[in-house]
Amino acid sequence: MIRDHFRVLVADLVTGRGNVATLNGRDEEAGGSGLAATLFNKYGHADKPWDDPAQPLIFAIGPLTGYFPLMSKTVCAFKSPYHDQYAQSHAGGRLALALRFADLDALVVVGRAKEPVCLSVGRRHLEVKNVGFLWGRDVFFTGKILRRIFSGRGHRSILRIGPAGENKCAFACINLESYRHFGRLGSGAVMGAKNLKGIIVQGDGSFPLPGGKEYPKLFQEIHKQVTDTGMMSKYHDLGTAANLEALNELKSLPWRNLQQTSDPAIEGITGNRFADDTLLRNMACSGCPVGCIHIGFVREKFMKESRYFYRQVSYDYEPIFATGSMLGVTDNFAVLGIMDVVERMGLDVMSGGVALAWATEALEKGIISEKETLVDLKFGDAEPYKEAIRHLGMGSNEFYRLLGQGTMKAAEYYGGDEFACVLGQEMAGYATGEVFFAAQSLGLRHSHLDTGGYSYDQKHKEKNVEEVIDFLVNDEQGRVFLTSMVVCLFAREVYKEERLANCLQSVGYNALADNMETVSRHIQKLRWQMRLATGFDPQGVHIPKRFTEVTTWKGSVDEDFLNALKNEYTKRIIELGKDET
Ligand code: SF4
Repeated sequence: MIRDHFRVLVADLVTGRGNVATLNGRDEEAGGSGLAATLFNKYGHADKPWDDPAQPLIFAIGPLTGYFPLMSKTVCAFKSPYHDQYAQSHAGGRLALALRFADLDALVVVGRAKEPVCLSVGRRHLEVKNVGFLWGRDVFFTGKILRRIFSGRGHRSILRIGPAGENKCAFACINLESYRHFGRLGSGAVMGAKNLKGIIVQGDGSFPLPGGKEYPKLFQEIHKQVTDTGMMSKYHDLGTAANLEALNELKSLPWRNLQQTSDPAIEGITGNRFADDTLLRNMACSGCPVGCIHIGFVREKFMKESRYFYRQVSYDYEPIFATGSMLGVTDNFAVLGIMDVVERMGLDVMSGGVALAWATEALEKGIISEKETLVDLKFGDAEPYKEAIRHLGMGSNEFYRLLGQGTMKAAEYYGGDEFACVLGQEMAGYATGEVFFAAQSLGLRHSHLDTGGYSYDQKHKEKNVEEVIDFLVNDEQGRVFLTSMVVCLFAREVYKEERLANCLQSVGYNALADNMETVSRHIQKLRWQMRLATGFDPQGVHIPKRFTEVTTWKGSVDEDFLNALKNEYTKRIIELGKDET
């Protein structure tokens, strides 16, 4: 629906009621990432802690959602339990289209329910249902029951948390449609703090497509490009798992808590091995003809005599790095087995895997003992890791509860911060070098997708600080516009500037199409303002010693270059966060 304003449903869990707010700003904040920051500015409380009932949990879509292929993401914004600051997390699944069909640009959830509830919203309804019987149940069981309770036609999206979110683990995720996640920085704990076990968005309305010849022509052109050319085929074929071999070759794949960046044992966990041995099928987010979601299987014996059941587990590059190479586990089925437990608990897989990698090295070094870990963690040994993931999700003892607040928090208490693989949050799977280490440490979401720092490292050996920081700031600005359109970043080569302007024009957003650069610069600043206003101090960011001990294809990490990047990027971020109004 083309409109010059945003239509936002604000649902209050205390009263069980909601109201639809109309907000201006379509031509300035666009949607998605920009809209989420705007809504946090309006409904968020910089001075209150993340779990204050008044803090909002925000889901926002973009102006092109539902109109073009791969406009499939939703931006979730919240105050994070990880650092008590503004955070964003992005996910696919069906949520974006469900919100579009429910005639909403965003959903904002405020308040804390008295008992565990599930919130169901649609075009004309809002319901808060007691689901106390689901508290303590895992993500898959919860999803199964919610599907039965809230039957519904159309485009329905089911969000839920597992025990990790209920126990307020700082890296608990929100699971959508079983295989997609708002993964990083603890949105699952925000739901837990609100006593909100699930959210159902029923896309129970419809919306008209633009008339005229321009829109269908453009749609066809894009659809053809993403399906008939080689542009997106790598995502469908082996998927991002293909990167494991490539990064290992480049000495950039973190192994065993980043004690190595390459290992011949990669053979067991390459994209080809996963596809040949474990792949069942591909899936796609709504509105995406590519289907990069790879579903493998794990099989478990449940009776003595040849009786097995199997479970389906989605895999990608990042989960394989976090539960495979980072933990030294090189059997693909064993890796999927660990991922399966991570999914059930509702944990962010990257943070969970990296946290356990630190715990394993800490145990090896005698900094902690089995009294803390409860199981004998050893690199390469999958079964204890499954147990440890359960303990992490359940918060079984003081050690796991602290580790669940972030690896660095545990390291500060027990020691071993020099080998904590934390770059703002637990590292993503790119030991590519100085640029990525500075980029993730200081990036707005501490995500590898904030900028293309990991890619810059793979192409550049020269050490020009100004050039790198210009690249990071400009690249972030470009990505900010893409995430405000909510385009899947895998399609960033499809949706170049001119194409995006044409798309916006074809559906009627002419002002946005004419001002893309101004709008993206404005949103970039707005996001940084939210982050700095909630307490982010880029000058205080510390990059642990382990990252300076790494050897990549470029050779040993240059600590002086890393520090120079950090200092310069810090200055630019502070500049970006200045409120010039
Ligand atoms: S390419 Fe993958 S992640 Fe992106 S929209 Fe399609 S299925 Fe979802």
